[in-house]
Amino acid sequence: YTQAKTLVFSRFGEPADVLSLHTHSISPSLPDGAVLLRTLAAPVNPADVNTIQGTYGAKPPFSQLLGTPEPAAVPGNEGCFEVVAVGGHVATLRRGDWVIPATTGFGTFRTHALVENADKALFKVGGEEKGKEGLSAKQVATVSVNPCSAYRMLKDYVDLVDVSVKSFARGEGMAGGAWFVQNGANSGVGRSAIQLGRLWGLRSINVVRERATPEETEALKEELRGLGATVVVTEAEFLDRSFGARLKEEWTRGGKEPVLLGLNCVGGKSASAMVKALSPKGCMVTYGGMSRQSFPFPTGPQIFKRLRFEGFWLSEWGKENPLEKRNTVNEILDLMREGKFKEAPFQEVEWNWDTEEKVLKEAVQGTLQGFRSGKGLFVF
Ligand code: NDP
Repeated sequence: YTQAKTLVFSRFGEPADVLSLHTHSISPSLPDGAVLLRTLAAPVNPADVNTIQGTYGAKPPFSQLLGTPEPAAVPGNEGCFEVVAVGGHVATLRRGDWVIPATTGFGTFRTHALVENADKALFKVGGEEKGKEGLSAKQVATVSVNPCSAYRMLKDYVDLVDVSVKSFARGEGMAGGAWFVQNGANSGVGRSAIQLGRLWGLRSINVVRERATPEETEALKEELRGLGATVVVTEAEFLDRSFGARLKEEWTRGGKEPVLLGLNCVGGKSASAMVKALSPKGCMVTYGGMSRQSFPFPTGPQIFKRLRFEGFWLSEWGKENPLEKRNTVNEILDLMREGKFKEAPFQEVEWNWDTEEKVLKEAVQGTLQGFRSGKGLFVF
């Protein structure tokens, strides 16, 4: 029997109040089509906390499959796992393979997982050909939510590459690449968008919140420029009345170079400023609400600038496009292998057999506090 531990919750609430650490054992005789996994790494994303709080768009199923005293759910949506045992009738996986859950809602905050219908529920990192070669568990564990979201949002709403190519062909400049603007630029998604944008020849205007000192703010700006950000401004600069003029004069050649895509992580005032920064026929994609403030869809800009407002949700996109999801993940993993894509900074939390429940719960609870040096990552 394999002894396993998992974080579980039986009711919605603050992680510190509702999470508990549950120990159970897994039988060595695996059902047909099932595999036994050992977790290597799993990040704590904002959505994981919202799910535990009960405020997320998807509610997890509660069950007693793990032998908990009450029906319970396992939190966590992404992670990197190693296959340690394979049942009969599993076609695509072997012992030693690294795998990623094919869909969100998997429950990754656990040392082991018994997964039925493994061929469908999991996919092998790097496919048959490349496997896990050249990758770290940390990279694999964090590829499928943040980088994947940034990739889809940059590609699926406005064809920015086409915009730059056509503008170049017309001799209108933009040789530097088409522009997009984003807030929450130092988030996992934001850092991914900066890097993919640079790789695809796009330019970005990036908004971050001011740090405690001007030196720290400058260091953060420098860090993002190092990843490929074209312009980094603070939220205060972005909200200032002078921003529109600066955008024209300093960066977009008097407004001749349009800003056609906005990625909104934050909402509230920052989102309203983004509406102002977008050029006519631009599109704003909302994917997060970190400020917990909504924002108005102002009538004037909708009509006179003919703006488009869209919402992005990776979970649904992934369900609708399972093959495309695998391809996107594998393409980003290739970039990581080639050293062209850097994972976001993490605060690693070691999870071994003796790690106390309190330490694990705190790692989850801390996720929505702002101004962090990196998101929590359970490392097993
Ligand atoms: P990270 O944990 O990597 O970063 C959090 C970001 O939020 C930081 O930039 C942080 O800035 C900012 N932030 C925190 N609190 C506030 C606040 N009160 N006001 C403004 N900004 C704040 O985040 P992720 O990249 O994992 O996720 C970012 C957002 O994107 C989340 O809302 C998440 O749920 C969402 N998301 C949505 C997806 C979808 O499918 N719709 C997919 C992936 C992510 P600072 O450093 O200044 O605190």
